[in-house]
Amino acid sequence: MKSFTLLYLLVFLIHCKEFFPSIQSQDKKHWNFTWPVHTDQISDRVSSVFGESRWDHFHNGVDISSYLEKVHSIGEGKLLYTRYSSDDPFHEEWGSGDTVWIDHGKGAYSAYYHLHPSHGNLGISIQNGQEIGITGNTGHSSGGHLHFVLSLEYGRKIVNPLIYLPSIVDETAPLIGGLFVHVGESYTNINSGDSISLSDTFPFTVLIQDSGVRKSQRFGVQNVQFNLNGKPVQKSNFNSIQFENEDWLNENGFKFNDLFLRDRYLVGNLALPSGEHTIEVVATDFHGNMAVKSFTFYVTRTK
Ligand SMILES: [Zn+2]
Repeated sequence: MKSFTLLYLLVFLIHCKEFFPSIQSQDKKHWNFTWPVHTDQISDRVSSVFGESRWDHFHNGVDISSYLEKVHSIGEGKLLYTRYSSDDPFHEEWGSGDTVWIDHGKGAYSAYYHLHPSHGNLGISIQNGQEIGITGNTGHSSGGHLHFVLSLEYGRKIVNPLIYLPSIVDETAPLIGGLFVHVGESYTNINSGDSISLSDTFPFTVLIQDSGVRKSQRFGVQNVQFNLNGKPVQKSNFNSIQFENEDWLNENGFKFNDLFLRDRYLVGNLALPSGEHTIEVVATDFHGNMAVKSFTFYVTRTK
């Protein structure tokens, strides 16, 4: 009975999180982490965020444009793991390249990928802000950057680092681009006022991009909601992903393939009858800047 009550409380708390986003700022204060690259232009330097589509998987960290700069531990902890290409020069390089993992206690780990080749005699104890490497371009990386990963619950959960690191500036709402219907490998753009013929259930996607302080920054978003004729068909956030049943699921229990198709946000596999339909897209970025766009079109069902 006791464990049932506890479970109920846990479920309640998880639901609370949706209604009380201030919990996120408490997380920031609780951990007191600092950015791994020390620059007063961090808002300009972030080049990708957590939860973006990478064709067949979630981008599981933030990318910071940087080359040959010091990498600092985001907090104090213990060295958990290092993997340097020089450890085994005859082995094919891993995707993450030269990598350092730090254990911050209470199940929190941070990871630093694509480091410049260097021998780190780091010792076991790591101080807050200690230099632990140099930014580089090792592994699967096209251009110097640091891929930074933050994990909780001893690696079972990977979280959006922007929730835990000091805030960056982003005053621009996401840009909602085109709506598409996919038939096999091909797809068609649907504009408001269009008439389309459909013979079956097909996936619908939408292009959503969020720019940061620079217009050229192209980020994913934190929350998406898709409404069909006034009713929600999909509501998701990109706060964290968790490994369950041999797959990574977001907080809403969705797999990558439930959320993305061809690097676009998946509205859903929709069976639309003949008539007028409206798809409303609501997207929020990591600062709470919101964008809304509606597409109204006419369907003729041929089967
Ligand atoms: Zn990355």
